[in-house]
Amino acid sequence: IKVEDKLAINRYRVDEGRPHVRIKRHEDPSPQLLAMTKICPAGCYELTEDGAVEVSPAGCMECGTCRVVTSETGEIEWAYPIGGYGIQFKFG
Ligand code: SF4
Repeated sequence: IKVEDKLAINRYRVDEGRPHVRIKRHEDPSPQLLAMTKICPAGCYELTEDGAVEVSPAGCMECGTCRVVTSETGEIEWAYPIGGYGIQFKFG
């Protein structure tokens, strides 16, 4: 089974209007933030045409990788979703 197929098994309850991962305003993303466009396991990060990085946390698996990788740059605000929201893993 492919990773994409496994991810499709998970369920997400998105807290609309209160994203639990946010990127602070920036013009030149750090190498760490740029790296997230390649290493986020859920593909939540994208590089825009103007060179900024955007995040769409709706499919976030709450792995914390982006939080750790950018911990020294301070570009990301990260918190677990409030109770009842976020990912629900089908197999625990
Ligand atoms: Fe991606 Fe993990 Fe960060 Fe969620 S916590 S946005 S899955 S790297």
